Amino acid sequence: MTTDLSWHVPGDSGNTLHIGAWRIEGDGSGPRVHLQAGVHADEIAGMLVLHQLLPRLQACADQGRLKGSVTVVPQANPFGIGQFRQGRQLGRFHEATGQNFNRGFDHSLALDRPASNLAQWQKSLVQLAAEAELVLDLHTDDEAVPYLYIHRSFWPQGQALAAALKVDLAILWDDGGDGSFEETIIAHAGPRLAATIELRGQGDVSDQLAQQDGDGIWAWLCASGVIDEPAVIGDWQGQAVDMGCMETILAPCPGVLVFEKGLGDEVEEGQRFARIIGRPGQPDSEVVLRAAQTGRMVTRHRERLVAQGSVVAKFTGSRVSESWSGGVLDP
Ligand SMILES: [Zn+2]
Repeated sequence: MTTDLSWHVPGDSGNTLHIGAWRIEGDGSGPRVHLQAGVHADEIAGMLVLHQLLPRLQACADQGRLKGSVTVVPQANPFGIGQFRQGRQLGRFHEATGQNFNRGFDHSLALDRPASNLAQWQKSLVQLAAEAELVLDLHTDDEAVPYLYIHRSFWPQGQALAAALKVDLAILWDDGGDGSFEETIIAHAGPRLAATIELRGQGDVSDQLAQQDGDGIWAWLCASGVIDEPAVIGDWQGQAVDMGCMETILAPCPGVLVFEKGLGDEVEEGQRFARIIGRPGQPDSEVVLRAAQTGRMVTRHRERLVAQGSVVAKFTGSRVSESWSGGVLDP
């Protein structure tokens, strides 16, 4: 049985925003699951994955093979999807307040009547997910290999999810402190497992990838006792990296960004991976960017004209980064 749980929140201009949500109920013998995509709004891949997964789950329930219940919120952020400027959709930050959409969820819960429309939406989303035992939050990076971002308390049991999704990188975090959705759910609802899945980069949206990722989530739901279907998930062979060992390289100057390494490439400490041409035409304006330690390039800046201070790339590492000061990576 499918229940339409779509709801409304007030928007920024006195309008009303709609959030589509559906709960597919099984026979009640399996765990409750919450799947959502697009908290930052500009993360499209997961929207397509859940769009395709929803009818599969409904058919599964109709056939009597759904044991748990699954709540699906394919486009979780109704504010950001309207932020089009000059033909481009600008997610990540709420234009009216400047707030990162995936921060401050904890504050929204503390208030009886949330102070802002944004906080009201955040509170409603947490409340919807709060009774789930398994929570997956689907994000995307700028350009990236697929990876899992997961709290250490859910490791190593999260390896099954990583293996099902065929991701070969998991980033383990300990303390967030800035009220992301996942952190807030963990603190206030205590799920058995919660994870952020980064479905590559913003341009990586295709039926083929969505099918592959949907199949991965499906296999994990089977293995987790949500769907009554045998699932074969092999051992995970990937790499788990502590949050503090990730290296984030920022642009020291603005300019034309030229990558010399690709996603997934290995780099040695000190090896060049990109350069920025500060003032094209002037050879001495080229700034070479080098890896801070030996590791693998796993995310890259999508635009090739870069602003000073922007994240150029992120790398895995094996020792704590000198630039790490705690906190989250920035999903
Ligand atoms: Zn995100």
